[in-house]
Amino acid sequence: MRKVLYPGSFDPITKGHINIINQACDFFDEVVIAILKNPDKKNYFFTFDERFEIIKEIYKNNPKVKVVVSDKKAAADVALENGCDGIVRGLRGLSDFDYEVQLSQLNKEISDGKINTICFFADGIYQFISSSKVRELFYLDKDVSRYVDDTVLEKINEKRKVL
Ligand code: ADP
Repeated sequence: MRKVLYPGSFDPITKGHINIINQACDFFDEVVIAILKNPDKKNYFFTFDERFEIIKEIYKNNPKVKVVVSDKKAAADVALENGCDGIVRGLRGLSDFDYEVQLSQLNKEISDGKINTICFFADGIYQFISSSKVRELFYLDKDVSRYVDDTVLEKINEKRKVL
């Protein structure tokens, strides 16, 4: 049985992430989505709990997908803890490449060579979607329904009401 970890901030999860998860589900028996803290990102739009609830809701009927949250832990350690054979990441294009190569080396090193990274490419229409673009559009009061699942849309619209 092949099990992989898909770590990220998912703030919020977009249709680009979902495209990568779908591809990973086609290849592997189980995909563990790990919501992790990215030290480069300080202010989150959704809390850990909110992101956890959203992703759990989206995958509630998919037995291949599990969701975990982990603060202050390396993706490789979370992968080992969850019995994963490797890490999945998504590539939109060259701009993601350098960062992902460094991250994959780091995760391999800290896991003593146990955890390799497998990258999937986003399908064309999802290539330009990012969580930061969704947040930017939200702040500009624009419609983000093309970029996110209905569960995210609902939560974003709730935030619109209180802000
Ligand atoms: P991180 O903070 O770890 O970069 P993100 O949630 O931004 O977390 O991204 C998680 C992973 O998903 C990364 O590998 C990122 O490159 C990938 N990703 C994000 N958006 C897309 C997209 N539209 N298509 C493909 N991969 C994506």
